[in-house]
Amino acid sequence: MLVPDNTPVCIKTLSPPAAEAAKVTLDVLRADLLHPVISGNKWYKLRYYLEAAEKKQVKMIVTFGGAWSNHIVATAAACQWKHIPCAGIIRGEAPTHVSATLQEAASYGMQLHFLSREDFRLKKIPAGLDHPDHLIIPEGGYGPDGARGAATMLDGFETKKYTHLICAVGTGTMVAGLQQRSSPHQQVIGIPVLKAGPGIEDQILPLTMKGHGQLQLIHDYHFGGYAKKTDSLIRFMNEWYDTTSTPSDLVYTGKMFYAVNDLLQKDFFPAGSHILLIHSGGLQGNASLPKGTLNY
Ligand SMILES: *Cc1c(COP(=O)(O)O)cnc(C)c1O
Repeated sequence: MLVPDNTPVCIKTLSPPAAEAAKVTLDVLRADLLHPVISGNKWYKLRYYLEAAEKKQVKMIVTFGGAWSNHIVATAAACQWKHIPCAGIIRGEAPTHVSATLQEAASYGMQLHFLSREDFRLKKIPAGLDHPDHLIIPEGGYGPDGARGAATMLDGFETKKYTHLICAVGTGTMVAGLQQRSSPHQQVIGIPVLKAGPGIEDQILPLTMKGHGQLQLIHDYHFGGYAKKTDSLIRFMNEWYDTTSTPSDLVYTGKMFYAVNDLLQKDFFPAGSHILLIHSGGLQGNASLPKGTLNY
């Protein structure tokens, strides 16, 4: 098992035509380079849960996710590394063909328990898994420990010079962590990748801190909902790779880069802005696409 190592994580400057036209600098934090499986933000969101699990010597880690969940596979890999037994509660009845993501999670020793969508929504924990010696990690690592961990994505980087920090939003744990590390002069922008509605703000605000950067969510770039895609999104992801050498995933970072490129064209950012984008990983999810869809 490869141990997460942040040496390859770096900040790169991108020069797509829209950034030059808008007279802004556009940098990207390549957190996707952290690890091939425990990629991007997932390791950071998990780190304090894992620390607590080791300290309390829990017997098992139990968490939730969908069939293509980056969080499920990252948790499975991290638990194998830490020698902690783990179980994944998976949304939906057991399919005839288990997704590549779940097969990989199982290969790291995660037990998979399929739960009907209804029971999953109610976060029902199957009998036997709900035990005082087990640590339950909410879906996506959501919660104060997850946000505190996500904040450490910026450790070791000089980020005060940026006017804007921008990332994709699922549960909002990462964007809350970035907000905790931001300064009052910085704008922290989250791009929800699901039809979140205003409820998502209520979910994120308790994880943020007063006296830091302004948080803004821009809800116009979910492309119809979680993991939904259009031809124009796929075309954009290929073009973005050609112009910036930056691969993206269809669920999270593809939509975030699309949003930024579109906002640049709409003069959303004042000239002279210094923008830091967070590449939060997720590239394994592209395995759900037919071969040849993407040019990387
Ligand atoms: C899980 C994930 C996110 C969403 O993070 P939240 O903290 O749930 O908002 C963003 N990008 C990638 C690549 C992810 O895997």
